[in-house]
Amino acid sequence: MNHWQYNSRHALKDAKQCNNFFQTTAFKDQSFPIKVPLEFANLIDKSNPDDPLLKQVANSHSLIKGLDFNPSPLADEKHSPVNGLIHKYPNRVLLITTRVCTIHCQYCFRQNFDYASHDAINNWNSIKNYIHQHTDINEVILSGGDQLSLSDDKLHWLISNIEQIPHIKTLRIHSRTLVVTPSRITDQLVKLLNSSKLNVVVVLHSNHANELSGEFVKRINKLKQVTLLNQSVLLKGVNDSVQALSDLSLRLFDAGVLPYYLHLLDKVSGAEHFLVDDECAKELHQQLKKNLSGYLVPRLVRDENGEFKAWIG
Ligand code: SF4
Repeated sequence: MNHWQYNSRHALKDAKQCNNFFQTTAFKDQSFPIKVPLEFANLIDKSNPDDPLLKQVANSHSLIKGLDFNPSPLADEKHSPVNGLIHKYPNRVLLITTRVCTIHCQYCFRQNFDYASHDAINNWNSIKNYIHQHTDINEVILSGGDQLSLSDDKLHWLISNIEQIPHIKTLRIHSRTLVVTPSRITDQLVKLLNSSKLNVVVVLHSNHANELSGEFVKRINKLKQVTLLNQSVLLKGVNDSVQALSDLSLRLFDAGVLPYYLHLLDKVSGAEHFLVDDECAKELHQQLKKNLSGYLVPRLVRDENGEFKAWIG
């Protein structure tokens, strides 16, 4: 077993464990289970109940009623012509490769997703046929869950198969795992991504500078042949300040990663307390533009009915 697999297996997984570890009462057992990997847990300041990392995984807040939140706000399933594959845009498809995540983020819009019906690895033959028939598709996006919770061998199998489809030029990997469990950046993974014949783009999901440890920076620098971008979610109490967003952009840039998107919250039930309203978001974005060089300012966007809507802040 690799070091990262050991770390993943020993993540904090219930309220009692978490409340003991963090010396808090911020966790309770609910239908969306708790999962906090130890590498992430160790970055949390236990003496600070408002720690921005703690807030993303804790779940005992009081519910806010009356907002238009729902269990599955983006309804990805509507765009799935083949199980395990989402096709919203002409040139690219997204594959649901696993239901497993390294961490459970309490704002996750996929927390009620029907994973049982979507398994791109088990359904690979149908997916391969679909992509072969649609020659407009030039990019495959791996998603989940988090596909980097798969073993290196499984990833190797999947990427090799994608490489064999002639019109696929780009492989994009969206992952929070590399940030919250840097030990996942194994030599084998580095070799696999650096040596692919596809253009490889890794979009990290980091929301706060405190998540980007020295170990993460050291390891992510090994992905020399990979385009590294980041997307964040704008979360009340976590990163809804000019200081927090500026620090994140600067820390990402130090690590060789460009800030790409800042998403407005997807309105999933249970995440109401994270909502930053549109006016505040636009104001923050304006301030960010004044504080940072243009290439460090992520685009402020919202996903609506499967379409990105860029906001001009
Ligand atoms: S890592 Fe991504 S998919 Fe997994 S729980 Fe967090 S937001 Fe959801």
